[in-house]
Amino acid sequence: MNNKQQILKVAINVPIHRLFDYLANDESFSVGQYVRIPFGRRKIIGVIYAVSFHSDIHPSKLKKVISVDPEIIFDEEMFKLIDFVSEYYHYPIGQTIMSVVPSRLKKNLNQLRKFELIYQATPKLTNDFINQLPIRQLRIRKVAEAILNKDTRQSDLMKIVSNWTECIEQLEAFECVKSKKYEPAIDFVKVDKPILNSEQKEVIKNILEKKGYQASLIFGITGSGKTEVYLQLIENFLNNSKSQALILVPEINLTPQLENRFHKRFPSKKLVSLHSHLTDVERLDNWRKAKSGEADIIIGTRLAIFTPIPFLKVIIIDEEHDASFKQQDGLRYHARDVAMVRAKNINIPIILGTATPSLESWHNATRIDFKYNFLKLTQRAVKAAQLPEVRTVLVDDKTKHGISRLLVDSINERLERKEQSLIFINRRGFAPVLFCPLCSWTSECKKCSTKLVVHRKTNRLKCHHCGHDQKMISQCPSCDNLNLRPLGLGTQKIEEVLNSFFPKATILRVDRDTTRSKKSLSLLYERMNNRDIDILVGTQMLAKGHDFPFLTLVGVIDTDNALYSPDFRAPEKLFSQLMQVSGRAGRSNIKGEVLIQTAFPNNPVFDGLKKHDYAIFARSLLNERKQMNLPPFGFTAILRVEAKYLKYAEKFINNAAKHAESLSHNVIVYDPVRPSIEKLKGFERFQLFVQADARADLQQLLREWVVYLREYPLANRVKWSLDVDPIEF
Ligand code: ADP
Ligand code: ZN
Ligand code: ZN
Repeated sequence: MNNKQQILKVAINVPIHRLFDYLANDESFSVGQYVRIPFGRRKIIGVIYAVSFHSDIHPSKLKKVISVDPEIIFDEEMFKLIDFVSEYYHYPIGQTIMSVVPSRLKKNLNQLRKFELIYQATPKLTNDFINQLPIRQLRIRKVAEAILNKDTRQSDLMKIVSNWTECIEQLEAFECVKSKKYEPAIDFVKVDKPILNSEQKEVIKNILEKKGYQASLIFGITGSGKTEVYLQLIENFLNNSKSQALILVPEINLTPQLENRFHKRFPSKKLVSLHSHLTDVERLDNWRKAKSGEADIIIGTRLAIFTPIPFLKVIIIDEEHDASFKQQDGLRYHARDVAMVRAKNINIPIILGTATPSLESWHNATRIDFKYNFLKLTQRAVKAAQLPEVRTVLVDDKTKHGISRLLVDSINERLERKEQSLIFINRRGFAPVLFCPLCSWTSECKKCSTKLVVHRKTNRLKCHHCGHDQKMISQCPSCDNLNLRPLGLGTQKIEEVLNSFFPKATILRVDRDTTRSKKSLSLLYERMNNRDIDILVGTQMLAKGHDFPFLTLVGVIDTDNALYSPDFRAPEKLFSQLMQVSGRAGRSNIKGEVLIQTAFPNNPVFDGLKKHDYAIFARSLLNERKQMNLPPFGFTAILRVEAKYLKYAEKFINNAAKHAESLSHNVIVYDPVRPSIEKLKGFERFQLFVQADARADLQQLLREWVVYLREYPLANRVKWSLDVDPIEF
């Protein structure tokens, strides 16, 4: 130890639960900065987490950092949040930090630019110039053509050629291009705000009355004007001194529509979005605008909760129940829960909005001992808009090709009236698999214990878990039968069936494959609004937030697998999904209708739906949860293990279970089980469920348990992860 020498405690992206000590070089440094450091034989990037005069290692053995990046990534507030997250989810601090910074920062310290550039042609860039370039300089030609054609952003050049920087350098050497800072054009016209109805006014008044940290749940049916409430709240919060607002939304698909609405309302405010559809450069740029205070409104998906926002005055979480707020791999955090902690840390209000609260939020809002602000919007905001009528349709063996007579008739009525229908399929477990009617053989993936899915357009079989992809099989491998059939209904199959029933209708299938880009989504809106489309077929993507004024019928094809799922959250998810999708029918002044096909019409899920009453359903589910001590009454975690060889996975999980037993005082340790997909991508899997009455007991167990797991000798033969407050089983 040396009293003068300062030691940098550096967080890096390795699965080891500690910081690494380095000596400073002669550059100035501060906590929260990136450093490049030697690590083993590699040079990697880390973040200065702390500075100290002490190291357990003798200074003569410590290595020096190679370089320090001047930008300070995280301030004290963010470090506090990240510390909490690392501790609560029992994930190494270095990996936690590296999981929550924009990816561009991780990769290339030297190539960082503070903003995105846009390139313009100079008079020297002409068609003649391009034509005289050697033919083999195809890439430069492409870049030059693009820029000649129109001013081109870096992020667009990246999509044209990979080594665009070299091409630009050469073109710059010829003085053919010049660059400037890219500024997105804003040409939105301010739209007047509607006059709030009395419920909306009450909600806003209630929230604004309180000062400091306060969690509010706005429980408002679809179309009740929740978004309008967010807008007017934000207007209030942004009115005062320098302020910023953060809105978290579940899916990137929803952000363009929401962004648009915000832009129109606040044309003079700077709005940025943060989601995975952005390029790394765009994302970094927006992240920096949030961090510098330049952006007033930040709309983002779950990762955005880790954006430094120095003047943050309010956090809003739209569709708070949505499962996509939970990260399912790596750092398995729940953005809503992290947001709660963040709001509390900096003493600001947080507002959750939804038509179908998560049972956790519902419980928090309705119990008396908890000071959650529970606010309701019970009416649709647009007077004429009524709630749709919800009916169940019994499906049985007589139902032809999966579509009932009643649904066919109802679609026909819509076609006659030039209204639109949405056919909704719960994609999970619904992809068609290849099936042999003679011997019951089905197409299975060799690497996973799942079925291969039939893709008709490309005539291939694919595994949706590991990506295995092969030619279609025409003969049964087990009995040589030549008549193999797809089993189960996928979106493509339903589309075919609908095409045969309604040959004159324009049918559009919408799923992740068909709407990958922003553009195709806005095209979809346009076509729906122009009534170019008669029938829309789609999966959960379509359930949320979309507003189609001429859509009056929703047909739900099959949901029954969710009623009998091993996942105790399945009915909750099903209910909210069906409630959401029902909300798509009759958004304007034409009354909507929802037909749900099921073999089990008496299930309580449907009762709540028909009455549009979430409370009925929530109460019955909460009762069940209470009896079994499941969330929100109990607290749970899952240890997941996978290994190439079954015996290692088995041994590890059994020892882990035994050890947990020996530690636990108030925690129930269940027997290890195989998850529903036993084998994935060639890895054998096990999981272990632990459950406690009190969060503190669970956390205590986890803290001691991970120490044991990290040091367990088999740990290098297995991959394991801990999922705290898991939402999937
Ligand atoms: P939600 O977010 O609850 O689904 P929205 O805020 O999108 O509801 O409102 C549904 C529709 O009603 C939108 O078209 C919105 O512009 C309109 N709206 C909301 N509040 C009002 C109001 N107070 N007066 C008139 N129209 C409103
Ligand atoms: Zn597979
Ligand atoms: Zn067969």
